[in-house]
Amino acid sequence: MNVGELFSLRGAVALVTGAGSGLGREIAQVYAEAGASVVCADRDAASAEGTAKTISAAGGVAQPAACDVTDVDQVAATIGQAVTQFGRLDVLVNNAGIADSDRAKAHELDLAAWHRVLDVNLNGLLYCTRAALPVMLAQGRGKIVNVASMWGLVGAGLFPLPAYTASKGAVVNLTRELALEYAAEGIQINALCPGFVRTNLGRHDADYDRIRTEHTPMARVAEPAEIRGPALFLASAASNFMTGQLLVVDGGFTAR
Ligand code: NAD
Repeated sequence: MNVGELFSLRGAVALVTGAGSGLGREIAQVYAEAGASVVCADRDAASAEGTAKTISAAGGVAQPAACDVTDVDQVAATIGQAVTQFGRLDVLVNNAGIADSDRAKAHELDLAAWHRVLDVNLNGLLYCTRAALPVMLAQGRGKIVNVASMWGLVGAGLFPLPAYTASKGAVVNLTRELALEYAAEGIQINALCPGFVRTNLGRHDADYDRIRTEHTPMARVAEPAEIRGPALFLASAASNFMTGQLLVVDGGFTAR
């Protein structure tokens, strides 16, 4: 395989959750540029449409889908529609995610907020994976890319994020578990672990950028487009013998 073939997604069908903003938007765009037909799913229908329109305007193939990953029926319908429209599903990116909104310590935590974060970041990821796997098993191939976080590998410590770190830690080990369960069936399941990226995620108060910059060895926050290369690698033939692994993209944060 030459370098073009290694990183090509020509003929592939990809579904990206949380595709309306931030990392998901960049991932949807780069997959379309690599030749995939991309279903841009987001609970915010307008932003899903925005990403799909941007892709179409650039000559790519994209379909928006209004889908809340915490709603099992919406997830099943979205994956069903993708397969009806495009005939297959080669890549699922479980990217939709939210953070603890109030940065409360565990003893002050609003339990409803805890459940909300776990529901999107962990349960939603499982619902999407569960719906995609039968399609991939029937095809005898497929790739799942889970967007975890460096907070799935280490504790946050800089500000309280109990639900977020718990959810991402669970995603990290669920990635390993599912990878082993489906390794012999042609399905690779890996995770991206980004560090600080400039998106809408998190609470953006005055200190946020300073803290993020100070604690990152590369002394800056990443731009969302910097996820394009790692995300394409995990979806393409370039990573065909990788499964159950974590690709950490954190400016050196966890190297300490
Ligand atoms: P973002 O807020 O810019 O984008 C998240 C998208 O997910 C939004 O479009 C939102 O509408 C969508 N979404 C939220 N809940 C949803 C649901 N229930 N169903 C469907 N869509 C839903 O944030 P982002 O930074 O691009 O986050 C993307 C992923 O990257 C998340 O899983 C996040 O945890 C992870 N991540 C982000 C950072 C960072 O610093 N930004 C770092 C590590 C990991």
